[in-house]
Amino acid sequence: MTTSGPMISVDEATQIILDHSRDFGTESVPLSASTGRVLQHEILADRDFPPFDRVSMDGIAIAYQAYAAGRRSYAISGLQAAGAPQQKLPKPEACLEVMTGAILPEAADTVIPYEQISIAEGQATVRTESVKLGQNAHRQGFDRKRGDVLVPANTLISPAEIGLAATVGLWQLRVARLPKIAIFSTGDELVGVEDEPAPHQIRASNIYTIASVLSQQGIAADCFHLPDEESAVRDALARCLEHYDALIISGGVSKGKRDFVPAALAQLDVHKYFYRVAQRPGKPFWFGQAPQGATVFALPGNPLAALACTLRYTIPWIRQSLGQPPLPAAHVPLSRDFQSKSHSTYFLLAYIGHCVDSDAIIAYPAEGQGSGDLASLAKADGFLELPEGREHFLQGELFRFLRYRPPFGSTI
Ligand code: AMP
Ligand code: MG
Repeated sequence: MTTSGPMISVDEATQIILDHSRDFGTESVPLSASTGRVLQHEILADRDFPPFDRVSMDGIAIAYQAYAAGRRSYAISGLQAAGAPQQKLPKPEACLEVMTGAILPEAADTVIPYEQISIAEGQATVRTESVKLGQNAHRQGFDRKRGDVLVPANTLISPAEIGLAATVGLWQLRVARLPKIAIFSTGDELVGVEDEPAPHQIRASNIYTIASVLSQQGIAADCFHLPDEESAVRDALARCLEHYDALIISGGVSKGKRDFVPAALAQLDVHKYFYRVAQRPGKPFWFGQAPQGATVFALPGNPLAALACTLRYTIPWIRQSLGQPPLPAAHVPLSRDFQSKSHSTYFLLAYIGHCVDSDAIIAYPAEGQGSGDLASLAKADGFLELPEGREHFLQGELFRFLRYRPPFGSTI
């Protein structure tokens, strides 16, 4: 008889997993490949922002003193284009045509846009009485000074940080290394996706589902298969414990005669933190860590459980390991009263829709035929997490939503 230890709650399991987050070290990546990674250093201003007094409108640059003294007509002495070295206003009665992004000419301090002047025979005539000293000239260092911290360390890199890094000349960034992950399917009933299954076989799908969740976070995992044979399971796991930061195993973790995963992990001295969580689906979930360091998520084989556990536990563990604080859980109201068949936490497949009379989002149960119903996943967007200890859930109550289908173009 296997000693499985006490069954723990989803919250306890989460806490144990987050308490065993890891540090995968750092690596340098090209700037163009660093979106979504976690920056490991500050980004400092290499120059003042802006780095020179910069013209911010197309028009003419003048010395304000002449305007204040009543002058409204200026001889155009030349053109200060963006990207051209600084010119000089020859005298206060003159002006230079200036382009957005150009350096402000020496002796000029004020820019009047083309919309407020007329030009004829080499003279620019100002048609407004509201010119202010220094207008449309963005002064050197006005936004940031050289050496200022533009981006703190530990920032998740977004397009904003990419632009800042580029502007200070960082063509590669030091970021937190992503974990190297091996995903395993288990079971002699499984054949490869490219194979034709016999009547008693099915194709292994979980490895693809789990790899897809990881790929949503920019992680490319390696996939393996374990037959239902004890020494083969043990040997393959032993090899991978040496080479990967984390192993995600699906199946072979229950109480069946051929469920060799817990025994194999025990033989390999992988320390078990827990086995069995009060959740449906996904009760026989095993979590531990090898002496070599690799973290092991042994998930139940049923496809819904494997997906729910990856979303609920593995992704937050990776996030924590990358130094990011836990994401506040997204909560969505239930569309109708729901009765669960379980006292454990219940991961209810649901799709996101809108209320009839408003734009508010709402979760519609999309229950299929039970936890093995892979096809029903396609009708849903994620799992609504109904807490343990209750069986009746009311329309409009808010519950945590684990989304596996982010809308394309979603910005929140
Ligand atoms: P197990 O946890 O090994 O008892 O598997 C539970 C159920 O999930 C069985 O019906 C398996 O055939 C199925 N299953 C296990 N692994 C996979 C997989 N990689 N892809 C699809 N179904 C699987
Ligand atoms: Mg199996």
